[in-house]
Amino acid sequence: MKELETILRDRILAQGPIPVADFMAECLLNPRFGYYTTRDPLGTAGDFTTAPEISQMFGELLGLSLAQAWLDQGAPAPFTLAELGPGRGTLMADILRATRTVPGFHDAANIWLVEASEPLRSTQESTLAGHRVEWTDRIETLPDHPLFLVANEFFDALPIHQFIRHGDGWRERRIGFEDGQFTFVLAPPAPEPMLSHRLSDTRDDDLVEVAPAAAAISKSIGRGIEAHGGAALLIDYGDWHSLGDTLQALHRHKPSNPLENMGDSDLTAHVDFEVLARASPSAHTRLTPQGVFLERLGITQRAKALAEHLDGKLLQSHIAAHRRLTRPSEMGTLFKVLGLYPKSAKPPPGLEP
Ligand code: SAH
Repeated sequence: MKELETILRDRILAQGPIPVADFMAECLLNPRFGYYTTRDPLGTAGDFTTAPEISQMFGELLGLSLAQAWLDQGAPAPFTLAELGPGRGTLMADILRATRTVPGFHDAANIWLVEASEPLRSTQESTLAGHRVEWTDRIETLPDHPLFLVANEFFDALPIHQFIRHGDGWRERRIGFEDGQFTFVLAPPAPEPMLSHRLSDTRDDDLVEVAPAAAAISKSIGRGIEAHGGAALLIDYGDWHSLGDTLQALHRHKPSNPLENMGDSDLTAHVDFEVLARASPSAHTRLTPQGVFLERLGITQRAKALAEHLDGKLLQSHIAAHRRLTRPSEMGTLFKVLGLYPKSAKPPPGLEP
């Protein structure tokens, strides 16, 4: 048995079956054996690829949307330009390159990265060499300035709880250890205040997921934007409501069993955008499919301009990247952009026709 499996087994034997959230947190962020704490998981040699790694166009357009939102709010200075879970730093590098010519934007920006992984922090540092960047573990510690923030495939990595409806109560789906194996078990039914808003749209035996950590982070973003101005673009795969089991493990680009390869496979769940929106009631929230968002920002024109300098294999992969980001059958519909912005401000471009 690997060390992380022994840690989890001993914990379950000592305290009983644990919530999926505790299992995810341990597998992803255990300081010595966690998935993110011990590696760079991105790219063809890793376990998964993300939109900024697919094409520079993604970060460029997001950057221009944020910069326009900043201009629309009177170009406040100084302001915080933040990213949650920046991976290799590619998205922030593309944002910074695309906004170089926006007068005053770089001078006014204090760049903050919220990152839990040491190996990824050092990759981000080299990707963003030449820029002054600060790191933190916790969003709550960001300065009290206007907050312009992006997060791509960050919320899907935050721990979820799973519950199965039982009358007006809920049975938590937990992870136990029986007959020498990890296995899912159901806790006895109990009322669940976090899920009172789901009693009207679910039936007995429906499974719903909630991510208290995601809600807390969204709340903190919403509070910052309400107090100081700003805007946030949160991009992830998921839907307005969560329904059904979406916990998934990915190992070398292939789905695997979440109860195997612990600490060596990526664990994610679909994001329940309603929970993020409800957590920041003081901000306006708007949910748009990624493909629509990128088209409104002019991805096709940008793709054509870049294509003029390419041929052969590079041109083919550029065309494929444009399709992958926007097509409904690829990432265009499954991925969504949740925008948060002050009630008094215009939405960042891309969120409205
Ligand atoms: N945004 C990047 C990487 C996505 S992978 C991209 O689109 O390519 C998820 C990122 O979130 C990684 O950088 C991971 O280390 C970070 N992360 C996961 N859980 C975290 C947490 N609880 N706090 C801070 N960072 C976290």
